[in-house]
Amino acid sequence: MNNPPKLTPMLQQYLEIKSQHQDAILFYRLGDFYEMFFEDAVTASKVLGITLTSRSGKDDKNKVPLCGIPYHAAASYLAKLVKAGFRVAICEQVEDPKEAKGVVKREVVRIITPGLITEDHLLDDKTNRYLAAFCHHKTKYGLSLIDISTGEFLLAEHDSLEKIYDDLHRMTPSELLVADSSSAEDEKFFKELTTTLSELCITRRDENIFRLENARQTMLDHFQVANLAGFGCDEMTAAIGAAGGLIQYLHETQKADLSHIERIVPLDTAGILMIDDSSRRNLELTQTIIGAKREGSLLATLDFTRTPMGARLLKRNILLPLRDVNEINIRLDSVAQLYHAPAANESLREILDQIYDLERLNSRVVLGSANARDLHALALSLARLPALKEQAIAAGIMTEHCKNLDELTEIKELLEQSIRDDAPITLREGGLIKDGYHQELDELKTILRDGKSLILDLENREREKTGIAKLKIGFNKVFGYYLEVSHAQTANVPDYFIRKQTLVNAERFITPELKEFENKVSGAQEKRLDLEYQLFTEIRRQVAAQSPRIIQAANFVAWLDFFRGLAEAARKFHYVHPVINNSEEIAIKEGRHPVIEQALPPGKFVPNDIHLDQTSDEVLIITGPNMAGKSTVLRQTALIVLMAQMGSFVPASSAEIGVVDRIFTRVGAMDDLRKAQSTFMVEMNETANILNNATSKSLVILDEIGRGTSTFDGLSIAWAVTEELTNKDGKGVKTIFATHYHEITELALTCERIKNYNIGVREWNDTIIFLHKLLPGATNRSYGIQVAALAGVPPHVVKRAKEILHNIEKGEFTKTGMPRIAGPIKRDQPSQLTLFSGSESPALKRLAEIHPDRLSPLEALNMLYELKALHEME
Ligand code: ADP
Repeated sequence: MNNPPKLTPMLQQYLEIKSQHQDAILFYRLGDFYEMFFEDAVTASKVLGITLTSRSGKDDKNKVPLCGIPYHAAASYLAKLVKAGFRVAICEQVEDPKEAKGVVKREVVRIITPGLITEDHLLDDKTNRYLAAFCHHKTKYGLSLIDISTGEFLLAEHDSLEKIYDDLHRMTPSELLVADSSSAEDEKFFKELTTTLSELCITRRDENIFRLENARQTMLDHFQVANLAGFGCDEMTAAIGAAGGLIQYLHETQKADLSHIERIVPLDTAGILMIDDSSRRNLELTQTIIGAKREGSLLATLDFTRTPMGARLLKRNILLPLRDVNEINIRLDSVAQLYHAPAANESLREILDQIYDLERLNSRVVLGSANARDLHALALSLARLPALKEQAIAAGIMTEHCKNLDELTEIKELLEQSIRDDAPITLREGGLIKDGYHQELDELKTILRDGKSLILDLENREREKTGIAKLKIGFNKVFGYYLEVSHAQTANVPDYFIRKQTLVNAERFITPELKEFENKVSGAQEKRLDLEYQLFTEIRRQVAAQSPRIIQAANFVAWLDFFRGLAEAARKFHYVHPVINNSEEIAIKEGRHPVIEQALPPGKFVPNDIHLDQTSDEVLIITGPNMAGKSTVLRQTALIVLMAQMGSFVPASSAEIGVVDRIFTRVGAMDDLRKAQSTFMVEMNETANILNNATSKSLVILDEIGRGTSTFDGLSIAWAVTEELTNKDGKGVKTIFATHYHEITELALTCERIKNYNIGVREWNDTIIFLHKLLPGATNRSYGIQVAALAGVPPHVVKRAKEILHNIEKGEFTKTGMPRIAGPIKRDQPSQLTLFSGSESPALKRLAEIHPDRLSPLEALNMLYELKALHEME
């Protein structure tokens, strides 16, 4: 019979703690190591590539699998596990092993999941890392997001999952909490999210934490308020469910103070320029479509920020541009001030370079994970605030904010006086606190440093007092420090000498003073380390209490950095101050694509004018061969509008922008492989979204719509969509439409608000030169064969294509590609195979399929229409 393994008390403790954290890998602190046992050890050793060993139980037959990592190197292992989708519970020793009776007490102090990382080196400092929660309550869907490394806490409530989808794709959280029992519809939604947001980890929690009463109470307790009206979200039941669930989760996973999460802000989409997920990707706002790289995105081009806070704010503002003319102009004015003051801009840059990530430093202070280097970095950063303020005032920006800026002088002074510049990252090994900050600590340090000379002092003093010249002080392990006197001198020994040992030649004594000294020295090291740690945590606590003030300062720095960065970009790239108003007009002179122009040699980008309004130039139809620059002109228009509405100067010689409420794009034919949908389906989804949601204040960019289906279907769809956009809600929507269906240019004849443009191409010998210039009027040449030749299609294939084109143009084919006359197609070399064998016309073919007896009169009439249409197209 197998006896259950006999476990050591430590392993019993391990199993007890592990039983409360079944869903996590438990990092069990054992001295200088985090150990993992049993299945955790097996899993972790595989994921981390570390050796799996075993530890003998009391009974050697019951070996326990084990692997461990040094605690000081834990962060990188932790990151690997979290990245691989595991939760990690950190279990620390919570009492001094020396004072422990039996097994040292241990507790899980923190659980780390993808959304709960605060370690600086594991975070991308230019991106917020959000933890999100979702809650479905009756007909409402709630969403809440938190970045615990900065304390930012947001919530939103919508009546459709689509909007939640949009928010999630805009904010790209790392982890989403959902109720463990969700409806089938919600489950389907989660599944879709995991395919479209590949980095997202979905965590299921007890549905109770999302229940309105519980969630509301959690929020009231956290914020210490009587109701949530002050946060503007009292009525948002589903959003409160999500936010309360989120806070509850934080309390469960972080044994830390969460007071830096001091307010919750509605994720306001009412005042922003909405850009849906696909448009955001199509326009490559924060990453490229291919390769998902930052490099090559609008964000990377515009990013001249110098601090992580500024970089995160820039990203946020690119994703959430504004709609309100006044607000936009306030931003633009700040950028303009710095644009016109290059010297101030330069000084600000130097100051900002010396400011660390105040937001994340503050969060670590509040969460109790900041070390002395963090506090030193905080001190250095705060020390730069007065200079920053002075320069901002000199440049005339953020004047109101400057007036109210709290320079946190006393915190800076406290830190400057207390924290050593060269402090180590560890907190228990001393070296944290400066000399002169605390008297007792200074004394202890003196004792440690001067121990030897103090002994010599004492020796000399005793020699003088007793007149025993050869008296000396020694030390042994049995009774510590002693005074040694040779037998010849023992007669001179004074009364206060206490005899301890008699040797052959000498006697050993102690004195009360010597013992007192000994006590001081021997306990000094330990006392010093304890005291330094205590003083440090007390300082950290004092700083944490000022967290709201630090957050405010961080905010000031972020905005200043944002404006300064945009001013630098504007100067460097020759952008102009756009004019923003509430008109219906967009007038861009010599506009450029901000990213593509940087990829080309200077001066090589060909600027183009764009004029859109709702009376004469509402829908611009742009034709031109592939590679002419249609997409570029489309995208640059959207990007210029977006940049202007976020408060940036724009790449143009002048720009007047009547603010738009949404930008829609249907660009390129990128298969959305992750969604496993066909190109055509994706295209039609995006088109449906545009037709359903565009308003007369929107800007629509359409590139090659209808390409994923047969020519006639595609053309008909493109035609109908254009008509709809021209007439939508009686007013129409500003639209730029690039197409290769030349037929559509005829739409301009039907409505004076539709205008044709083409992108100039010059024919030269047998090839073409792209002029990239937008010209009024339509073109009916697609130059497809020339483009194919330029693209490297072999010459004999190009030659054959020309033959076929020639035949088609001579009318030997119908437009659907069917030969008009039966028989082989003519070609230069008659020996080759025919391209098409004979077949009858589509109208005749359709006619042959008809069974007149089976048709109702109405169907017969419709059939007649169909036949006539087919015939006309032949
Ligand atoms: P289309 O959409 O007509 O196929 P694109 O807009 O994709 O063409 O442009 C193809 C390439 O032509 C771009 O990658 C760029 O290198 C170049 N290009 C486009 N527009 C311009 C321009 N205005 N000035 C200079 N080069 C341009």
